Amino acid sequence: MADLQRLAIASHQIDKQKVFLTVEQQRYLGRVLRLGVGEKFIVMDGEGKWWLAKLSLDVSGKSGLIAILEAEISIQNELPIDLILICALPKGNSFDEVVRQSTELGVTEFFPVISSRTLLKPSPQRLRRWEKIATEAAEQSERQVVPRIRDVGEYFATLALFESQNLSTNCDRYICVARNSYSLLLESLLDNRKQESIVIATGPEGGWTNEEIEAAIATGFQAVSLGKRILRAVTAPLVALSIVNSVLERRNI
Ligand code: SAM
Repeated sequence: MADLQRLAIASHQIDKQKVFLTVEQQRYLGRVLRLGVGEKFIVMDGEGKWWLAKLSLDVSGKSGLIAILEAEISIQNELPIDLILICALPKGNSFDEVVRQSTELGVTEFFPVISSRTLLKPSPQRLRRWEKIATEAAEQSERQVVPRIRDVGEYFATLALFESQNLSTNCDRYICVARNSYSLLLESLLDNRKQESIVIATGPEGGWTNEEIEAAIATGFQAVSLGKRILRAVTAPLVALSIVNSVLERRNI
């Protein structure tokens, strides 16, 4: 089973035991993975379910190749709670890597934001590209869930979302701030063992402004440090998420 290729589909593609594959998915299975009719692979709906599936020809002629779902597979590779990343967009295409690696680290939802010192003007096709990257990373890392990626938002508007959302009292919110004497993220996580969800915010190359940090604190975020070294805008989310992973995986054992 571990050797089988994985394909993420959308749940609306499923009709009873059949999965109507898109042209792109058919091409990927046939030409890239070189699977033939009758060969098995794993289908994941990105919302928590996996099935063992077989590649078949669609006799109804609606679609060329379809997947036949043979058996549901019980699997649990997700972190025990939701993990949300608010990330000020770094320069160039670097957010692509943040999406890929943060998906491997269990993020369930991304909020890319433009803050005062963000240098990037994101391209119109960004969301589709990031969703594709997240899907591939979820398949590769054997997750059941493909993270949701919100469209790019303005920083203060995104903070307001967190204020107005009916977040559980055990939703821990952290804003990572370089050059400070705040407590370490690890210590704060270990101090509070009852989290039901965790939100991490990381800034752009130029860092957060004082106003942005104060607004986050007023919204219930705790300012934290990731150590004495100054991490790049693309490194900081990965370090923060790795720390969260270490704490949550221990809890899972
Ligand atoms: N130019 C900023 C400065 O000199 O303070 C540094 C910005 S850093 C390149 C980009 C982001 O990564 C920061 O806004 C922060 O969110 C995060 N970051 C980097 N190093 C960090 C550290 N040691 N502790 C906490 N956050 C850090």
